Amino acid sequence: MNIKILVANFIFIFLINHACTNTSPNNNYIKNDYPIEDTASQEKIKENIQIREIDKKYLIGKYNPETDSNFVKIPSKYCIYRTEYIHREVYDALLELLDYANSQGIKLKIVSAVRNYDTQLYLWNSRVSPNYDIYTIKNVLKYLAMPGTSRHHWGTDVDFNSTALQYYNSYEGITIYEWLCENAPKFGFFQVYTSNRNTGYNVEKWHWSYKKLAIDFQENYKNKIFCPDLGKFRGSEFCGELDIFNNFVFEINSEFL
Ligand SMILES: [Zn+2]
Repeated sequence: MNIKILVANFIFIFLINHACTNTSPNNNYIKNDYPIEDTASQEKIKENIQIREIDKKYLIGKYNPETDSNFVKIPSKYCIYRTEYIHREVYDALLELLDYANSQGIKLKIVSAVRNYDTQLYLWNSRVSPNYDIYTIKNVLKYLAMPGTSRHHWGTDVDFNSTALQYYNSYEGITIYEWLCENAPKFGFFQVYTSNRNTGYNVEKWHWSYKKLAIDFQENYKNKIFCPDLGKFRGSEFCGELDIFNNFVFEINSEFL
């Protein structure tokens, strides 16, 4: 091997390592530029083998978290607006994350955790006026999921501190976001709507998901949920035309794919 090939190899290996260790969401697109696809798909195959069956009603939020034993209440000291619930398999990791933040002087709280179908429908109807058209729906879809398509139905996802863009541009918001990027993955949480996507919801710095369980929900969702499963509501007739599942539900941080 001559010296030129050695140097080229060295530079190539350095670039790959750099891309893999750089977890900043703003730089995630770098991952696609290097041949790490094989590793990602091998991991996915491994994970697929372990995917468990999840009933359709939990995929589209047709349950009541107050009475369903799969969900537990989050202590009110961590909730900003109302009583919040989370999937019982996410609870320990979430509480560890919140307690760890608190111990470091980071005021991390929950705006929204579990939202069932009815809650999502209420939010949807409050944004979509009765005389809507497809442009209205596209506009609402910048930040709000159609009923039956929200990851908040799964009990695996959480919005932290605020869903206002200006908050995450403030000093406090920037501090919180940087802290989350550095620490949330240690507890199994990853940002879902990052900047390295082509379509779907706008970037949401507040929305984080517990990957270990969310992957199960995602894989079940892919195989079991189709437009008619969402039911009828304002704009549901555009589910197919807007390719809601590919363009929104699965247009997420490549960390989850
Ligand atoms: Zn959210």
